[in-house]
Amino acid sequence: MPLPNYQNTATERFLRYVQIDTQSDPESETYPSTEKQKNLSRLLVQELLEMGISDAEMDEFGYVYATIESNTDKEVPVICFCSHVDTSPDCSGAGVKPIIHQNYQGQDLILPDDNSQIIKQIEHPDLAHQLGNDIITASGTTLLGADNKAGVAEIMDATHYFVNHPAIKHGKIRILFTPDEEIGRGTAKVDMARLGANFGYTIDGETLGSLEDETFSADGARISITGVSQHPGFAKGRMESALKIAAQIVADLPKTTLSPETTENMEGFIHPVGISGAVETATVDFIIRDFTVKGLQEKENFLQKIMENVLMNYPNSKATMKVSEQYRNMKEVLNQYPEVTDYAMEAIRRCGIVAKQSSIRGGTDGSRLSYMGLPCPNIFAGEHAFHGKHEWVSVQDMEKAVETIVNLCQIWEEKSVN
Ligand SMILES: [Zn+2]
Repeated sequence: MPLPNYQNTATERFLRYVQIDTQSDPESETYPSTEKQKNLSRLLVQELLEMGISDAEMDEFGYVYATIESNTDKEVPVICFCSHVDTSPDCSGAGVKPIIHQNYQGQDLILPDDNSQIIKQIEHPDLAHQLGNDIITASGTTLLGADNKAGVAEIMDATHYFVNHPAIKHGKIRILFTPDEEIGRGTAKVDMARLGANFGYTIDGETLGSLEDETFSADGARISITGVSQHPGFAKGRMESALKIAAQIVADLPKTTLSPETTENMEGFIHPVGISGAVETATVDFIIRDFTVKGLQEKENFLQKIMENVLMNYPNSKATMKVSEQYRNMKEVLNQYPEVTDYAMEAIRRCGIVAKQSSIRGGTDGSRLSYMGLPCPNIFAGEHAFHGKHEWVSVQDMEKAVETIVNLCQIWEEKSVN
């Protein structure tokens, strides 16, 4: 049910935030990876201070921390809401011109700055649920940045609502805005002690009503090969090319299973992501994904076997495989705190919409935060078709995300004891 006396500030905030270029850069070695991300972080601090959130601050790495103080006598766990300010390196985020397509009626959305960019319902089935809603898109030459500025605007709007409705009871709420999520470094410099929260939620999910409490578990594997180098004119019977060994290992991977392009839902995969070298030495890098650690290990053992089998034809060469942990399925942490997910599902249902629990074939900042001591599922922000020019979000879905955040804080308060 709509929040009492709710006045939407999420839309105008969103339109403002997306016009600030915050693209992150995987090639950069600085924190944040691009200095321009701080332009949005700085603006958020300023807007929070103007709302009366007096401890809002940005640190040297571009992280924003802020507190909505408790207004209840109850002992309520400290809840954190988290979104990322950066946009994907896959598509330009410079000069974004957001457009509101009011009262969407199922038509093709032609983006004016490049008429060949057309958002069609047939390619975006979720649009079928948006009839009558106001859809925001970019203008055809950039991404929109709803991933994750929709989440940022929703957290800001919920904060605005709490500040203006002190009768709504809640415990202490911590706000966290991170840089560099899109390049996998969103939690690299987060200060958990400074954050001081018990449980968290990223607001970075897709479809209205969805909650993701399960992610891949992820490892990297590197196979390092040492072959036998010879002058190619005198190599007969002696040369063992490390490059050919590397190529054979990749060629021996299953073609119809265990690949990103042949798996879905809860299936994992072994995915080569880089190969380099010469005759003498070569390396092959893989990412391994599964929903369980056991499944990861099985895949790693399988890859090891492929490597050993290939080596049998190269008696004077060597190869080793080194596995490094990347992140783990948040579910293994969240299972210990079922209320974190349960309250979020209830918060969504209280908006009068269907709550849908799902898994994500990837990682989130929440999967890392969950293992850093902050159990942290992912709640929908309404962002769709992210990382591309067809990205869109609706005003109405954003409002439901705000309502979910407000409901969730109230539920944590209601369920807590004196
Ligand atoms: Zn995101």
